[in-house]
Amino acid sequence: MALSKDGDDFRKSIGKLFDTGLYSDAQVVVGTTIFNVHKSVLCTQNAYFAHAFDVAHGFKESYTSVITIEEPANVEVIKAMLEYIYKGDYTVASDTEAQLVVDTGVYAAAEMFRVEGLKQLAAERISSNIDKVFSSSNLAIVLDNVYEYTPEHDRQVRDLFAKAATTKIEREGLLGSATFREAIKENGNFAADIVLAMHKTVNIQAEVTCRICTSTTLVPTKAVEEERAILCDGCNRVYGFQYWNIKE
Ligand SMILES: [Zn+2]
Repeated sequence: MALSKDGDDFRKSIGKLFDTGLYSDAQVVVGTTIFNVHKSVLCTQNAYFAHAFDVAHGFKESYTSVITIEEPANVEVIKAMLEYIYKGDYTVASDTEAQLVVDTGVYAAAEMFRVEGLKQLAAERISSNIDKVFSSSNLAIVLDNVYEYTPEHDRQVRDLFAKAATTKIEREGLLGSATFREAIKENGNFAADIVLAMHKTVNIQAEVTCRICTSTTLVPTKAVEEERAILCDGCNRVYGFQYWNIKE
């Protein structure tokens, strides 16, 4: 359902509260940066903030109204997360390469603070920029965000990186890059994910049927992609690719 004009205006007004800090009744502090925030917005949108500011739990944040977010939180990442809670979107001031640093940081923060919609948004942005990261000087820090600050069972972004790296290794000789080799040396889990992703691409099977005798055989998907000749067990002959039906 689309918001009415009044609903749109309302959302914009809430967004403005974040930009201006007007009527703020709480603060989120990251290093030396202070964000003037509103309990009514944060606590209704997010369980972490609701919990921290709830007097019933007796945390000091509930009477000081100040939440300090410790390192390794990055100011731009926390700003993006707060902006998302107010506006349903976030903007990044950095250039495209540095943007992946923020987006992977946002993904990790969204996981930590349980902002599910933000996690999805960050994952989409990572996915559309991921090709640029492998030649970037930010590669190590981006991989740190993914592998140090997200739980191992959270596969979404890890799989994106492993898959993109695998494709680039196979098609673009990514292993020739010293930056990349250094990154996989530093990050054993990433290296392991790449090995597993490669194993999958080699071994996924496709089912093909012989047009002569109709017997069925399994071949690596690569054989189909590359339209290789295939040995038919039924006819005991090797046929060119045009003699095979591919099962979708
Ligand atoms: Zn056959």
